[in-house]
Amino acid sequence: MDRPLRDLRISVTDKCNFRCNYCMPAEIFGPDHPFLPKNEVLTFEEIERLVGIFANLGVRKIRLTGGEPLLRKNLSKLIKNLVNIKGITDIGLTTNGIFLPKQAHHLYAAGLRRLNISLDALNDDIFKRLNGRGVSSKTVLKAIEMAKDIGFDVKINMVVQKGVNDQEIIPMAKYFYENDITLRFIEFMDVGNTNGWNLEKVITKREIFHLLSSSFELEEVEPAYFGEVAKRYKYKEKNAEVGFIPSVSESFCSSCTRARISADGNLYTCLFASKGYDLKKILRNEKDDDKIKDEIISIWNHRKDRYSDERMSRPKEKKQKIEMSYIGG
Ligand code: SAM
Repeated sequence: MDRPLRDLRISVTDKCNFRCNYCMPAEIFGPDHPFLPKNEVLTFEEIERLVGIFANLGVRKIRLTGGEPLLRKNLSKLIKNLVNIKGITDIGLTTNGIFLPKQAHHLYAAGLRRLNISLDALNDDIFKRLNGRGVSSKTVLKAIEMAKDIGFDVKINMVVQKGVNDQEIIPMAKYFYENDITLRFIEFMDVGNTNGWNLEKVITKREIFHLLSSSFELEEVEPAYFGEVAKRYKYKEKNAEVGFIPSVSESFCSSCTRARISADGNLYTCLFASKGYDLKKILRNEKDDDKIKDEIISIWNHRKDRYSDERMSRPKEKKQKIEMSYIGG
């Protein structure tokens, strides 16, 4: 498989203020959970050095994520430096939005333009239960509005689980249609081993599309570039789009151009990996960037992962996988 390396997702922290049941269930990520000690987490200088090396290798897009990336202190300082790295043309951030009111202006001033904000329901009872912290959807909606007013390009991520928030598909679609904001439905994925995933809880792109078709006229949009993950549709006579991330029902391993770095500097070539490559150790011991670059090339060229393609052919296998909050979504 010929899969160029183009995108890099960087988790800047493994901590989160939410306890979404499909990502960091509270029973597992309790008060005693051993999060990474500070000295294990990559410093901003280390992240910047790595991004420089990856840019040299052809990476153009960076996404900062977590955990909740806005829990990382002074994140706008990192962004300011990443924006200036030669070759990097696009920086995005995925967040639950709670800390945006305090930080959005700084992030924008630092050069960030793209935000993916996660919101799984408008209905407060459902959303409060889902985020595990009793936070109202109104708090996130206000953050979204503010981000739009500042000038950010905002997209909304909704993870859909059957019997949990599928009744929110149409209300969410209507709300964001009316507000001209792109909404993306993410199929519930079997990331990690703690979220109780099974296939029956997945609502597929096809099912959601079918539901939406009863309320909206949708036109397919051509992919903007090789390896684009979202399958996009435009609402007729609107700018806003609706998108799907069909990782379960229409896997896209063959065009996957993404590498991921966990908060403690492990490199992963697949979201469903069991094992990473310790880049932090190399970074902290090696002064020559070219040697680190060679190491990354070798890892990428030996990449054989295609977990989502193979998922259905080995449903009973119990593979140990890293957690989403650690590797970054
Ligand atoms: N804390 C940030 C947030 O809430 O957006 C960033 C990290 S979160 C892990 C990134 C994205 O991954 C979110 O949109 C979240 O809904 C999604 N996600 C987490 N677990 C998932 C799962 N099991 N299946 C599908 N999407 C998932």
